[in-house]
Amino acid sequence: MNLVYQLFLLTNLFGQISLIYIDPNGYLVYCPCMGRFGNQADHFLGALNFAKKLNRTLILPPWIEYRQGEPKSIQVPFDRYFKLEPISQFHQVITMQEFMERISNSVWPEDQRISFCYMERKSLRGSMKKDCHAKEGNPFGPFWDEFKIDFIGSEFFAPLHYDVWHTAGLIDKWHQKYPANKWPVLAFTGAPASFPVQKENIALQKYLVWTDEMQSKATNWIKLNLPKGAYLAIHLRNGIDWKRACEHINDSPKLFSAAQCVGYNNEKGVATPDMCEPSKQLIIKQIRQELKSYHSKHPTNGIKSIFVASDNDFMIKELNEAFKRLKISAFRTNEKDPHLDLMIMEKSNHFIGNCISSFSAFVIRSREVHGFPSAFWAFHTASTQIRDEL
Ligand code: GDP
Ligand code: MN
Repeated sequence: MNLVYQLFLLTNLFGQISLIYIDPNGYLVYCPCMGRFGNQADHFLGALNFAKKLNRTLILPPWIEYRQGEPKSIQVPFDRYFKLEPISQFHQVITMQEFMERISNSVWPEDQRISFCYMERKSLRGSMKKDCHAKEGNPFGPFWDEFKIDFIGSEFFAPLHYDVWHTAGLIDKWHQKYPANKWPVLAFTGAPASFPVQKENIALQKYLVWTDEMQSKATNWIKLNLPKGAYLAIHLRNGIDWKRACEHINDSPKLFSAAQCVGYNNEKGVATPDMCEPSKQLIIKQIRQELKSYHSKHPTNGIKSIFVASDNDFMIKELNEAFKRLKISAFRTNEKDPHLDLMIMEKSNHFIGNCISSFSAFVIRSREVHGFPSAFWAFHTASTQIRDEL
C-alpha cells in the first residue's frame, strides 16, 4: 500500500508550524438545503455512504435551522450535536469549519470553486445564466455565506447520479469524469442522497452518536422530570404544515418516511390518513393497548409515565384524564428543543411514532441500534400481526 497521506507543512502568521493532512482522494461537501432536522438526517446517511463509495473525505456540513421571525437560516456546527469519532470509524470526515479554516486554501482556492447540480436550476431572480444558482434563496445563500464561499461557475453532473447501491459501474464513472486531482472538491448544491433514506443506508444510523453533553442534557431532564421507572414516549406530529401534507396521503402511498413501516415497495401496506394524522381517540386507544401489551411482557416494570414530544398539540390534559385510573401521567419539555425531544424519545422503554414523519424515523432508527422496540400510529407492526394471526 502506498502512503496515501500527504502531509503539508504550513507556517502560519505567527511563525508556528502546523501539520495538516490533505486527502489525495479529494473531498465532498453539500448543502443540507432541504427540510428540517429529520430530512437533513436522512440525507446525511445517504451522503455519508456516497462519500465512502467515492472514497472522498466527507466535509460535515452544519445543520440548518430556522428560527421564527428570522429571514435567514442558522447554521449549527455538525459536532455541536454529534460525535465525530464514531463517524470516523466508518469513513474519513472533517467539519466544514475545520476544512475551510485549515485546508480550503491549499485544495480549493477561491478561483476554483464550482458548484455541482444534476442539471441547470432555474434562477429565482430571473437570471438567464445556465447555472446551479447554488446561493439563491434561503437557506442556499446563508449556508455558503457562513463560510464566505462564492462559486465561479457550475457543473451539471447529469447523467451521473448518486444511487450507488443500484447502478453498477457508477462509482468508476464518477472517478473518470471527476478525478480528484482535477476536482479536489465536489460541492453539491443539495444533498447527494435521496429522501427518504434508502434502505441500504439505514444501518449507518449507528455512527450518529449524540455528544456526551447532549446526552447528559436528556438524562438530567429525565431524572428531574419523569417519575422513576419505565416510560412510554410518543411523537405527536400535528402542526398545521403536517395537516396540510397529510391531505395528500391517499395519492402518495409512500409519503415522506412511510417506507419505514409500509416497506419501500409498499410490501407491508399503504400509508393511510390515520397513520399520518391519528385522531385523539385513536391515540388514546392505541396507548391503552400498548400499555397493556408492555405490561404483559414486563409484569414487574410497567410503564409509569408518558413522555410527549410534539410540534403543536401535546394532548397533556386528555392523556392525564384518560390514564388517571392507571396512575400514569403525561409529561413534556417546555424548551421547544427538537434534539432534547429526540433523545428522550430515543431512550424510552417503548415508543410510538408517526410512520410518515422523518423526525419519528430518526428516533426509530436510533432505537433499532440499541434493539429498543417501537410502534407506529395506526399501523400493525410485525409483532401485533403475529398476535392477530394466532
Ligand atoms: P418531518 O417533517 O416530520 O418529516 O421532520 P423534519 O424534522 O424534517 O421537520 C419537522 C420539524 O418540526 C422538526 O425538525 C422540528 O423542528 C419540528 N418538530 C416536529 N416534531 C417535533 C417534536 O416532537 N418536538 C419538537 N421540539 N419539534 C418538533
Ligand atoms: Mn419536513
